[in-house]
Amino acid sequence: MKAILVKRARVRSIAVAILTCAINNILAQARTGPALNEDAFAFAKHLIKKGHFIADTKGAWRGHRPSANEENEFIRLHGFGEYARWHLGIDDHYAENTKRRYKFPYGDFKSVHRCGLLAAKARARQYGYTEIEKAAAKLEQALSMQSKNSARHGLPIREGTRSLAEAHVGASAGLLRSAFDTNAATTQSFHDVKNASINSGKSSL
Ligand SMILES: [Zn+2]
Repeated sequence: MKAILVKRARVRSIAVAILTCAINNILAQARTGPALNEDAFAFAKHLIKKGHFIADTKGAWRGHRPSANEENEFIRLHGFGEYARWHLGIDDHYAENTKRRYKFPYGDFKSVHRCGLLAAKARARQYGYTEIEKAAAKLEQALSMQSKNSARHGLPIREGTRSLAEAHVGASAGLLRSAFDTNAATTQSFHDVKNASINSGKSSL
């Protein structure tokens, strides 16, 4: 009888140890996830201010995010330093010259995509990377605001319109929605044409 009790206690303690270990692993993963790439955040903000963005919608990211070949070609031409700036997350478990180090892309190496920011925000939220989620949300707000202001004034989004746009930050978003949607659709079709021409010249890296 005594032997059975000892055996049960041992099994229980092993089970507790396994459970503790599993919980610790989960906590360790949460702690060691990618951190916010402050440099990329500042760069994306700068691009938005300059009007280098596509004000599209969430579902478009699947078709717009750079392919592995496009990423490799960009790295070949510009290096990992530039590649890093297009990713909101940085995971220092991986070496600086590996693609795995850089997570949460938000653009196509030319423009910030609203679709990319929304995808990054959703994914960061899913994994509990709060800092990255907040950064993506802030950028998305800045982009939407900039886009709406440009649409309201019927002006192309260029650097020259920036001060005008900034003067109207805080304007009612609801009033501008229809104009914004028209603008987004136009930008979208332009982007599709641009993408088609990029894809046709794809390298086979
Ligand atoms: Zn897009």
